[in-house]
Amino acid sequence: MPIHLLSPEVTSQIAAGEVIERPASVVKELLENSLDAKARTISVSVGEAGRRLIEVADDGCGIPADELELAVARHATSKLATAEDLFHISTLGFRGEALASIGSVSRMTVTTKEPEAKHGARLRVEGGRAAAVEIVGAPNGSVVRVEDLFFNVPARLKFLKTDVTERRAIDTLLTRYALAYAQVRFKLTEDANVTLQTAGDGDRRAILAALYGVEVARQLLEVNAEDEGLRLGGYISPVALTRSNRKDISIFVNGRWVQDTPLGAAFVQAYHTMLMVGRYPLGALFLEMDPAAVDVNVHPAKAEVRFKDPDRVFSFVQRAVRRALLAYAPVPQVGPQIWQTEGRQPDPAWALAHPEAAGTPVAVERVPVEQPLSSGDHLPLLRLIGQIGATYVVAEGPDGLYLIDQHAAHERILFEKLMAQHDMNKIPSQSLLTSAVVTLPPAAATLLASQLPLLKHLGFEVEDFGPNTYQVRAMPAVLAGSDPAAALRAVVDDFEEDETPLQGQVERKLAARVCKRMAVKAGQSLSPEEQRTLLANLENCESPRTCPHGRPTMIHLSVQMLERQFGRTGPR
Ligand code: ADP
Ligand code: MG
Repeated sequence: MPIHLLSPEVTSQIAAGEVIERPASVVKELLENSLDAKARTISVSVGEAGRRLIEVADDGCGIPADELELAVARHATSKLATAEDLFHISTLGFRGEALASIGSVSRMTVTTKEPEAKHGARLRVEGGRAAAVEIVGAPNGSVVRVEDLFFNVPARLKFLKTDVTERRAIDTLLTRYALAYAQVRFKLTEDANVTLQTAGDGDRRAILAALYGVEVARQLLEVNAEDEGLRLGGYISPVALTRSNRKDISIFVNGRWVQDTPLGAAFVQAYHTMLMVGRYPLGALFLEMDPAAVDVNVHPAKAEVRFKDPDRVFSFVQRAVRRALLAYAPVPQVGPQIWQTEGRQPDPAWALAHPEAAGTPVAVERVPVEQPLSSGDHLPLLRLIGQIGATYVVAEGPDGLYLIDQHAAHERILFEKLMAQHDMNKIPSQSLLTSAVVTLPPAAATLLASQLPLLKHLGFEVEDFGPNTYQVRAMPAVLAGSDPAAALRAVVDDFEEDETPLQGQVERKLAARVCKRMAVKAGQSLSPEEQRTLLANLENCESPRTCPHGRPTMIHLSVQMLERQFGRTGPR
């Protein structure tokens, strides 16, 4: 093929591909336009996870009728004039690309009216072709309606994830912006259900409560720091409140949500030695600085920024977070969450620094005395010796000593019982005397909704109980006595964005998750009766040596090994 210039259609599709990847990218660009237009109220409606419809309506400044045609043209913007301006950008948009890009991959209608204008104007763009501007009656502000996204780019459509995943990306985006712009009223409607609504009264803690639940929001610590042109505000988790990934860390720089990893790392680093390995804090941080000290023009979707003096910014963030942590919690208490999570011990350095934490009494949840499964002889018959550190059960077998991790072992037992019943197609469920009501963040609620049929299959009875709220009425009999709300949370917490395992595996995966959460924790002392039951049940497991997540349940010290270690026999 000889070298030739690409047609405008092709170049505009290439450019659109950089900015508009999925429905959530459309929402992001439109939200940013509304915020730049100084809107006080922004309503977003989404149909079929954004594939059929995305509409963003605002009460902002509107677009003059005679500029509307230009607004949808590529590289047309009211926010930037000279190249020099690129280095002190105070608006979210500046590339003049969003409306053109969206218009080239959808059927887009922009209806807009300036407050001082008599009439509004409307313009329709289909697959990059703009019709003529019409004069219409319209309320003040702008409404951008995007229908049939990617109708002319079937390849893109194929790359979209499931509706649940795409909707979650939108939910997450909206909640982040609602947090950052707490003085703006946001409303999100998905397929006629209102899934998020904020008051716009500036109260960030209220939004955090909607996002993470009242209990978590109450515990969050406020950060407020200032240092020569740098300002940091926001909320962070105390050390006792952790997550298994960084997904609940949101950082805004000058009102722009950035997925900037070094900055996130600086935040996590501030918790250094205070959290266990593999646990992360959560937080929403809002960093403000001179626009000239930050370059936002590094990424087409504007998701990354570059700081003029990154070291100074990172250490400022770290100091501010650290100070907030220490101010609120001079002597970190070992909450049950820290102590019990994952059945692991705290970071040794942390434990050393906090001797007061050792032996902190922890509420004991009774292990239900369970009937052993059908008899099998997968493990030699074990004789109980006792429990050490309220974490390990010690037993003797014909071939030596066994150290058993009580949490991992119980996890394995619950899992096999549940799966055995599942394979026989009858998981007995038990009604709760008092049903538990759980309110989840919108994204988690969406996810849970999609898992309800599976949960029912596993013996849970869960019902819709209002927006983002569910009621647990029954749970699998095997898990009776444990916290039903925690079981629901286990289903949606820590769920990775793109986790879409095959149907057959989802149930096992969910069951494993729930069993992990329900299993007896490290740090709980067990009565001799409970310890014996644990051993008996473990002996009857198909795969007694690992937990469903693959961690070992036991360490075996063989007689030979003991003899070698004590010098009774030489190495063979
Ligand atoms: P950018 O935001 O980078 O300027 P866009 O393509 O997103 O580029 O928008 C082009 C122009 O259209 C903006 O500069 C702005 O003047 C106008 N505009 C877009 N959306 C709105 C809105 N919701 N309210 C007012 N003006 C808008
Ligand atoms: Mg824009």
